[in-house]
Amino acid sequence: MSEVFKKLSALRGMNDVLPGQSAAWEELERLTRDWLRSYGYVNLRAPVLEHTRLFTRGIGEVTDIVEKEMYTFTDALNGESLTLRPEFTAGMVRATIEHNLLYDRPRRVYAMGPVFRHERPQRGRYRQFHQIDVEALGFAGPDVDAEQIQMLARFWKILGLRDIRLEINSLGAGEERAEHRAALIAYLERHLDLLDDDGKRRLYTNPLRVLDTKNPALQEMAAGAPRLLDYLGPDSRAHFEGLQARLDDAGIAYTINPRLVRGLDYYNLTVFEWVTDRLGAQGTVCGGGRYDGLVELLGGKPAPAVGFAIGVERLLELWQQESQAADGGECDVYVASLGEPAARRALVVAESLRDAGLDVIVHGVAGSFKSQLKRADGSGAAFAVILGDDELAAGEAAVKVLASGEQFRTPLDTLGATLVDRLAGDSA
Ligand code: ATP
Ligand code: MG
Repeated sequence: MSEVFKKLSALRGMNDVLPGQSAAWEELERLTRDWLRSYGYVNLRAPVLEHTRLFTRGIGEVTDIVEKEMYTFTDALNGESLTLRPEFTAGMVRATIEHNLLYDRPRRVYAMGPVFRHERPQRGRYRQFHQIDVEALGFAGPDVDAEQIQMLARFWKILGLRDIRLEINSLGAGEERAEHRAALIAYLERHLDLLDDDGKRRLYTNPLRVLDTKNPALQEMAAGAPRLLDYLGPDSRAHFEGLQARLDDAGIAYTINPRLVRGLDYYNLTVFEWVTDRLGAQGTVCGGGRYDGLVELLGGKPAPAVGFAIGVERLLELWQQESQAADGGECDVYVASLGEPAARRALVVAESLRDAGLDVIVHGVAGSFKSQLKRADGSGAAFAVILGDDELAAGEAAVKVLASGEQFRTPLDTLGATLVDRLAGDSA
């Protein structure tokens, strides 16, 4: 059989969001925009596709993402190496530098959309997934770190989520990490026999990541390793204490997890994750931290920054478990009609109802009144408007209140106002 006749399907690990699920996505997106706006964040939309070197430089060569998760290909037209964004931060920072956005003031920006990582698909882990990405660029103190954590606490409250907890750590400054790194390598060399292949490979390139292991056999050894926290100098310590004081002011509970390092190279000082036990193995809903060196690393004037990313699929799963995530109706009014003249009139009537501010679905295909009313019920509409020859001759419509079954006839000229009044009355 030729290629053309093979059944077409989506790529593994890449999901369609079907009509039954998309209402929750849209509601989440709406809540997200309102929430971010209330903290002064504005949308910055960078392309999905960037030069590969943006990510290799920005994220770091010896990270899971760059080593094995990127969708990278050569542009057949000019031989350039391109990569689908595996995360937002590098592109957001590139755009900020390219358009000189930090020249006169710091910026709070956000984006949401798909990111791509070639991972083994499983619950909570996909190859195309979505993030809400939030970045504060040009802020040095612990204030914005604390504000971002405070914002997230508010967001969980808006969504009605419980059972989500905060872990924080400090990765200190470059020199402190270097000193700790030497001690850590010496420690790991003493436990060489325990290290798995990943661990051995990273011993000299990215030893901190050896501690971030999910391998239970390594975790005990990792627990005894020298702690970066013990190598922090006075400035880093003050920053971390400043963060904790502000979280205490806000009444936000947290635990300090000395082994929290995050999967990307660019972090320093504050790192944090929000985790839950309700999602199985992939329990991290949000991760973030400070990346004071990244703007300079990518060619900009040095500027401190802090940000986080929320995994939307995981958040949605949690939201749907824990609360009444949006499951609203498709429309306010469902318009049914019988016969050609009434079908034509239905389109006109529907427009007048939309003029009155109502959401309206016109049945749109042939069918008996009975089958049309069944669809009207299924649509979640408050009213079915029924147009037949009799009604049209009288300049009226029949209305069925779908919740109660009550029916009445009413003049077409005032139909919109009548239904709007009834809806307002119902929700009062
Ligand atoms: P993990 O340790 O689970 O691989 P990560 O450290 O790679 O996470 P980040 O780069 O911090 O993840 O991305 C931020 C958030 O995006 C994560 O906290 C998670 O909620 C979500 N996320 C990461 N990878 C995936 C994926 N493959 N599928 C779905 N969501 C993901
Ligand atoms: Mg990962």
